[in-house]
Amino acid sequence: MISVISGDKIKIIPDKAPSKETKITYLRISVTDRCNLKCFYCRPENQEFIPRQEILDYEDMVKLVKVLTKFGLKSVRITGGEPLLRQDIEKFVAMLNEVKGIDDISMTTNAITLKKHAKALKEAGLRRLNISIDSLKPELFYEITKGNLQDVIDGIVEAKKLGIEPIKINAVVIKGLNENEALDFVEFGREYGVEVRFIEMMPIGQGQIKWDEDMVQPLEKVKNLIEEKYGELVPSSSIGSGAARVYEIPSINTKVGFITPLSNPFCDGCSKLRLTVEGSIKLCLRTDDEIIAKDILKNGTEEEIEEFVRKVVVAKEISNQNIQFNNYAFGECQRIMTSIGG
Ligand code: SAM
Repeated sequence: MISVISGDKIKIIPDKAPSKETKITYLRISVTDRCNLKCFYCRPENQEFIPRQEILDYEDMVKLVKVLTKFGLKSVRITGGEPLLRQDIEKFVAMLNEVKGIDDISMTTNAITLKKHAKALKEAGLRRLNISIDSLKPELFYEITKGNLQDVIDGIVEAKKLGIEPIKINAVVIKGLNENEALDFVEFGREYGVEVRFIEMMPIGQGQIKWDEDMVQPLEKVKNLIEEKYGELVPSSSIGSGAARVYEIPSINTKVGFITPLSNPFCDGCSKLRLTVEGSIKLCLRTDDEIIAKDILKNGTEEEIEEFVRKVVVAKEISNQNIQFNNYAFGECQRIMTSIGG
């Protein structure tokens, strides 16, 4: 029997077919829980890594992707931990590129080793990149991540040179820490030809600090600050996963995005699933609801996996309905972020 596990509760998925209107268009896959940075809000001090033999193989991930194309899947984002640390990551990109129906393969990375990987990724079929940078000040970047900002910038320059487009920058805005860098980020976007997306910090996992509402900088303030300097922002028709509200800054021909899970949630009609590093399907980042997929992906036939995915889609419909009736904006997910991948 397939059920949704939610912390210590088990919810049975009703025995019915999913509605024809429900589509799953976007899948995020966490390929490793290891990371070469140590962002204080994301990773705990002494993180215990999942043993290699418990991590899903690329072949099993691809089986899920193939079946999901029958339910509308078009975009796959590779994430982690740090996805560039997983061995043969380029091979995985190439495997995804072979799947009929998948026309958008992207990656979220900290870009510390991107310079080395960019060419092979591009050749394997990677279309676009999201790169995380929370501060443009090398000292503060180090304070937040324990990493070297210049490595990230070198990676961006290399990816641009190779024509990987678009490149988007993810900046988590933390009140009292980096909120005053918003205009510097806009200038960075202009200089490097990248779209900066500001993100509100969500209550997820267990980093080295306990999440607190006081750390969340509602992004309306950041938007106002940008408008004060550059003039009115114009809503853009930019295509993405739908999480970001994207705007053009006409005066400098640059785009910025705002991801506001707390101050202005964007859950309506969510068609996104996440595959965790050890093979569970997460229905929503804001809850602990998961469906174990590892065994069926390892041992099931294509028909069995399709039957399983039908149940997952029913569970996703129920999850979406629950979101309409509950305030999940402050829902707290206990799983560590690196195993989900953001
Ligand atoms: N290592 C890759 C990277 O750095 O982009 C991929 C994984 S990382 C978990 C993905 C994104 O999640 C990063 O942009 C990170 O800043 C963001 N993130 C982690 N914890 C978060 C939180 N509590 N709220 C919002 N974003 C978070």
